[in-house]
Amino acid sequence: LENTSSNFIRNIIVGDLESGKHNEIITRFPPEPNGYLHIGHAKSILLNFGLAEEFNGKTNLRFDDTNPVKEDTEYVESIEEDVKWLGVQWEKKLFASDYFEEMYNRAVLLIKKGKAYVCDLTPEEAKEYRGTLTEPGKESPYRSRSIEENLDLFERMRKGEFADGEKVLRAKIDMSSPNMNMRDPIIYRIAHASHHNTGDKWCIYPMYDFAHPLEDAIEGITHSICTLEFEAHRPLYDWVVEECEMAAKPRQIEFARLNMTNTVMSKRKLKQLVDERVVDGWDDPRMPTISGLRRRGYTPEAIRNFCREIGVAKADSTVDSQMLDFFLREDLQPKATLAMAVLKPLKLVITNYPEGQTELLEVENNAKDPEQGTRMIPFSREIYIEQDDFMEVPAPKYFRLYPGNEVRLKGAYFVKCTDVIKDEAGNVVEVHCTYDPETKSGSGFTGRKVKATIHWVDAATAVPAEFRLFEPLILDDAPENEGKHFLEQINPNSLEVLEGFIENVAFKDAKPLDKFQLVRNGFFCVDGKYSTEDKLVFNRIVPLKSSFKL
Ligand code: ATP
Ligand code: MG
Ligand code: MG
Repeated sequence: LENTSSNFIRNIIVGDLESGKHNEIITRFPPEPNGYLHIGHAKSILLNFGLAEEFNGKTNLRFDDTNPVKEDTEYVESIEEDVKWLGVQWEKKLFASDYFEEMYNRAVLLIKKGKAYVCDLTPEEAKEYRGTLTEPGKESPYRSRSIEENLDLFERMRKGEFADGEKVLRAKIDMSSPNMNMRDPIIYRIAHASHHNTGDKWCIYPMYDFAHPLEDAIEGITHSICTLEFEAHRPLYDWVVEECEMAAKPRQIEFARLNMTNTVMSKRKLKQLVDERVVDGWDDPRMPTISGLRRRGYTPEAIRNFCREIGVAKADSTVDSQMLDFFLREDLQPKATLAMAVLKPLKLVITNYPEGQTELLEVENNAKDPEQGTRMIPFSREIYIEQDDFMEVPAPKYFRLYPGNEVRLKGAYFVKCTDVIKDEAGNVVEVHCTYDPETKSGSGFTGRKVKATIHWVDAATAVPAEFRLFEPLILDDAPENEGKHFLEQINPNSLEVLEGFIENVAFKDAKPLDKFQLVRNGFFCVDGKYSTEDKLVFNRIVPLKSSFKL
């Protein structure tokens, strides 16, 4: 999966296998089911599964579900679907909440060792006692509670005798540690809330910094890969594994999270976009979620190649989102069937073409791969072209259709504009042309040349279709948006909906997620949400060209 040749994590693993520290490596992907996965998670998935695969190891999909309030089975299901779609296979599907009893017992062990205590400080007091980066913290007056009292209070916390926030269990470490995470961190809190997996069985829940190392150790994870912001939590991770006397000793390794231009990369923020209806759901084609990318027409292969290219770093940086599109085009070009569609139609009548006659023209299925063969498309007297391919008064260097000018209709004939029909308001509603039968594509005609080839669809047989074009949802690179809240950086023009026509032949059996290269207009994918029996809706995956260079 992941070409990890220059990957520092890979080097650690190689060392651990060579030294005999481990015979087999086990990694995990541990999402919290509090939202849909995004492209940043894809990076983590491909890294964890890729490393395991490379070294014949295993990877668990573990739902890190220790926070009842924000978690939901809808998210669990979407995460499973997305991970599978990326093409990886987990060893086991696990829930951290299944370890609550064991975690509770390990907390009791800490209390018995004098390494944890129940604390009654209010959050405000606790914050004050915690100190600052430059000031050591103060010990809580509850720190000296006896082991017996702590055992009793912790049990009563579990039984539900106290309200949310009334008490917490804290690790007893060092209030003067320069590492704030080591200043007696909270390891259990009270939350009278139903949990998606354990229901109302528990009203105390372990904190991430306590739960995560235990989850890893319980599963025998050898290398626990996480993002950089947890670097300063590593001493606490090791402390928990050690003091809880876990048999396995997983090693936490941090790497830089993926950031991309024009992309919000946080489930919390993405949820806000969904909740405030900025988008039409987690799978809106403009979302950087896996489900959004899938619906838009991105492929797992493109995402994998992208993640491989960006590699694994130890310092944060931001990747140009056009890099993903580069890999997308590369992947789609050989796969997507070529077809013609007109997004902003203008009727063109070929006045010297016999009325009622239709001929079939042979056109290629893939511009770069003749192996994919050809198909026959109908051509007759009335066709549609793009409004942009006609100008009544041509701009300088405009070589497409204008009165008196001749162009090639792709795969068909030369046509020359003879007349323009306007409505009462003066808008061009129809263009009249004559065609030259001698100039048929493939006939070897060399008599004269034209400077432009335009695409078209046959008016009688083309089917109406909706085309949805996208621009970035977030304009974080616009100078006027610098430093603004992401909801103020929303692009008001991120969606353009066009009603046009598509050649019927290629589309008889089109299904959601089918991908096409529409001549000159880009790569498109059939939308699964808005397409109906009567009308196909196409999402533009990506335009054909970009100035981006790898
Ligand atoms: P978010 O802030 O978007 O909610 P998270 O880290 O809180 O992300 P988790 O569900 O805890 O979300 O993430 C599961 C795994 O994915 C973690 O191991 C996390 O480090 C990793 N991950 C999350 N975001 C990124 C990212 N942008 N780049 C790389 N890995 C990521
Ligand atoms: Mg997290
Ligand atoms: Mg988060």
